[in-house]
Amino acid sequence: MQSETRHDWARAFAQRARTGDGGSALADILALSGETDVITLSGGFPAPETFPVEVLRGLTDRVLSQHSAVALQYAPTRGLASVCDAIAGRLLSREGLRPTEPELMVTSGGIDALELLAKSLLDPGDVVVVEGPTYLGAIMAFTGYQANVLCLPLDDFGLDVSALAALLADGLRPKLLYTIPDHQNPSGRSMSIDRRRELVALAQRYGLLLVEDVAYRDLSFTDDRVESLWALAPDVVVQIGTFSKTFFPGVRLGWAAGPAVLLAQMVSAKQNSDQCAGALGQRLVEDYLRGGHLDDQLITSRALYAARCEAMMTALEREMPASVTWTRPTGGFFTWLTGPPGTDTTALTGPARSARVAFVPGAPFYPDGRSRRNLRLSFSRATEPDIAEGVRRLAALFPLTA
Ligand code: PMP
Repeated sequence: MQSETRHDWARAFAQRARTGDGGSALADILALSGETDVITLSGGFPAPETFPVEVLRGLTDRVLSQHSAVALQYAPTRGLASVCDAIAGRLLSREGLRPTEPELMVTSGGIDALELLAKSLLDPGDVVVVEGPTYLGAIMAFTGYQANVLCLPLDDFGLDVSALAALLADGLRPKLLYTIPDHQNPSGRSMSIDRRRELVALAQRYGLLLVEDVAYRDLSFTDDRVESLWALAPDVVVQIGTFSKTFFPGVRLGWAAGPAVLLAQMVSAKQNSDQCAGALGQRLVEDYLRGGHLDDQLITSRALYAARCEAMMTALEREMPASVTWTRPTGGFFTWLTGPPGTDTTALTGPARSARVAFVPGAPFYPDGRSRRNLRLSFSRATEPDIAEGVRRLAALFPLTA
């Protein structure tokens, strides 16, 4: 049907909807990952082999036969009380600290927690500090509320805390700082304990809110655990977590733990977004946690991802020209490649598509798109033979741009 006058959609959209092109970058990644015969080293997808189908069948049956009045009903906005209790218990055993009732809420995944934080805290022009590179979804959540997102460098020990100290000493007063201290997306790097201590000390001194995203914290390849920022300083840290990478993403569940006043505001913000996280998934997560199944699943998942990471490291060493470097993750899903000066990984996406291999170019992981020399590879979903073949195809593209 033809409308009489053409609608001017460019003017119709709100200012906040016009910021950045991260959304299209993300959509492109997801689109290519759906194509068959492409080796997908792009999205942060967990391995389907880790999905606990059989246990879920039993749990779903039990929840439906015994708890359907709760599981199929609306839930309180903060989350079902029994589910909050199960998550608080897990935090106590993992982090040595148990959030009180007003310090915890259930979210519809990590993205929801970021959106609720942004909605609760950010006015247009507010400064948000992130690591560069960082998670694209976080950049989108902050720019979606018209924040001014600044990025600070990241090295093998995590965020450059001295660069933050200098900015704060110069008078910069960010609304919040967002960091992924464990097996970061996209770089695969983790923050050292010294940096963590320095960071929370700065936050306490300047009254800076730290947002700690622990999406990959439970997916370490070793048993070494560094204290979380939240455990170090619960007065200035909000921790956001997700069950997407450890349980399964289809459940769309996560949590936020932090100062009670902030959590109350986030709960209020959730009332007119999705009102509550789905109760059925919440009850499944609760039983999964209480039954000790998540810990069992983590043992196999961590071994699987460690083996895939190793396969990727071996393939990179074998195939890549000497001018290309990459990070060596100790957990999580990703490694971050740096090409020689002059490399343009955004321009490589076309040839990669023809070679039937998918990766994510580095630029969208910086709020200002500053680097085109990097790219992110994910080893989480592809099989070991596909990783070897995908890296071989990718490596063949490099000399063209160096
Ligand atoms: N934080 C990080 C660092 C992530 O990598 C992701 C998923 N890619 C999320 C949060 C969001 O996960 P979800 O919304 O599926 O819980």
